[in-house]
Amino acid sequence: MSDRKKVESIKELAREAGFPDVRACADGSGSLFFLFQPYRPARQAEAGKINLSNYYIASQKGYLGMKKLLAALEKKGIRAREFRGNGVKQLALRTGGFIGKNSLYYHEWYGSFTSIHVVQTDVFCTEAPAQGETVCAACGSCAGACPARAILPEGLDVSRCVRAHSNERNIPEEYRGFIYQLLGCERCQLACPQNRAEQGEAYSFDIIGLLSGKYIREIRALVGPNYGRRRIILGQAAIYAANVGFVPALPAVQALLGDEFVGDAARWAAEILKKS
Ligand code: SF4
Ligand code: SF4
Repeated sequence: MSDRKKVESIKELAREAGFPDVRACADGSGSLFFLFQPYRPARQAEAGKINLSNYYIASQKGYLGMKKLLAALEKKGIRAREFRGNGVKQLALRTGGFIGKNSLYYHEWYGSFTSIHVVQTDVFCTEAPAQGETVCAACGSCAGACPARAILPEGLDVSRCVRAHSNERNIPEEYRGFIYQLLGCERCQLACPQNRAEQGEAYSFDIIGLLSGKYIREIRALVGPNYGRRRIILGQAAIYAANVGFVPALPAVQALLGDEFVGDAARWAAEILKKS
């Protein structure tokens, strides 16, 4: 099979593995394939419920899709592996798009609402780098929407970004007030005029059931074992209950006060809920 046919075959297999957009570029004597897994930001959760970030769901779906693609390529005798290097966003620019002031990669169709997975192959690729047609308008809306003031004129200060802190074992107290969903933060993306995706389906969980540990297995299946850890999910659920003043959750929060992993977040949340 010619290299050109191999490139087309890899793209076809990637689409079959669940990626609606696949782009390739040369990388030394081989090539990189960028697998885009888009998602829509979740609509607001109903009272008493909390949303799970759709980004983390898309990311896990993309990860599993990439594994499926690698298995299919192996069967065809095409040597390929997951790209584990740094600078994926910068590399993705070779296929179009831009990097916004919030440091996120913007795909020309999906905006920043996409997870990116990269596969490296030995297949020679002649596809020319794409000319990006969309650009960051430098409007500053993302910086204005950031609750942690993490977007500075010179770029993102990762150490202040809620996304970087929200998945820690114990979220620092100064960041707890910014938690508005399970996992991550997408406020700068929602404010960006270059993101045109409408808010869509939400995976919502009732807070009291969540605090009892009822949905951990389901959440783990959606976002994977790393992010679906009990201590991350229950800690954030308790903090969220406090942030929205959901007093009916107080007994469930109090049941976690002595918990080795989420006790600190539960004590913080219980104090706030008692005053609500
Ligand atoms: S993810 Fe959240 S905290 Fe981080 S830059 Fe965007 S809005 Fe700010
Ligand atoms: S909100 Fe404005 S400044 Fe921020 S990434 Fe979007 S276009 Fe760029």
